[in-house]
Amino acid sequence: MLQKLKQLEHPVETQPLTVYWPYALSLLAVHILGVLAFFPSLFSWSGLCVGIAAHILFDGLGVSIGYHRLLTHRGFECPKWLEHCIAICGICTLQDSPARWVAIHRMHHQHSDHQPDPHSPWVNFLWGHVGWLLFIDRRHDGVVHFERYARDLLRDPFYFRLERKLMWFWVYVIHAAIIVSIGYFYGLATMANHTQALWLAASWFTWAVIARTIFTLHVTWAVNSVCHTWGYRNYETRDESTNSWWVALFTFGEGWHNNHHADQRSAQHGHRWFELDPSWWAINLMAKMGLAWNLISPRQALHTHVEHD
Ligand SMILES: [Zn+2]
Ligand SMILES: [Zn+2]
Repeated sequence: MLQKLKQLEHPVETQPLTVYWPYALSLLAVHILGVLAFFPSLFSWSGLCVGIAAHILFDGLGVSIGYHRLLTHRGFECPKWLEHCIAICGICTLQDSPARWVAIHRMHHQHSDHQPDPHSPWVNFLWGHVGWLLFIDRRHDGVVHFERYARDLLRDPFYFRLERKLMWFWVYVIHAAIIVSIGYFYGLATMANHTQALWLAASWFTWAVIARTIFTLHVTWAVNSVCHTWGYRNYETRDESTNSWWVALFTFGEGWHNNHHADQRSAQHGHRWFELDPSWWAINLMAKMGLAWNLISPRQALHTHVEHD
């Protein structure tokens, strides 16, 4: 099995490899700006704290709970207005529009670690981590791809509009501008003068926007790369998915990826007592507040699966 997977080729639709400049340049720009974090003068505790809070909100609520467990797998239901707010949070991680993210991830589940999985690390580790984003995959922009994998989302005008004229990307830019502006006004309120307020705004840009975006990107990408390469397995799935405690720690439970591949619809990814799953806790809290219902737990999901079989 491993021998066969080690020879996995790039998906045919990416051949010959052609750089996808919009993504390549955007990701390069963000990583170059990341150098700012090495300047001690641009560090502030408030910038770091806002960055951590933003990671919890945008990666935890936006990507783990929103993009993944809610929009891709429908592991629970919630009011439409809340679903849209959560999707906006996901956009603030610079991880693509909701419909594209969902379509690519559903394709990954259908073909995981086999052709034509869009991002298997069994092509090579870097390909699974980020390489797949840097090159054109002819499937990802096709109408057929969206029709097949994300029709449910695009029937909603909200998600459809986000696809047009790179609207989702501008949402990311606007959220960054809002964070920097708040940093500036916070600086004006707490510091001696305008120049110091500008420095604080620059610090928030460095830590709460750029460093946080880079961190969020890499820990999310690690679910695709690390959690199909290293770790332990609870279930014998047809792919090479694994559970990784440290990826789970930084992604609010997404690192229990072998559990997830074994039971995709379940909104609960931690299956054993020590597999901490903050996203599942948050979904339960939402349910207690009347903001989520029809939560799919592992037992129910497996039961449903057996019934369908
Ligand atoms: Zn999934
Ligand atoms: Zn996977």
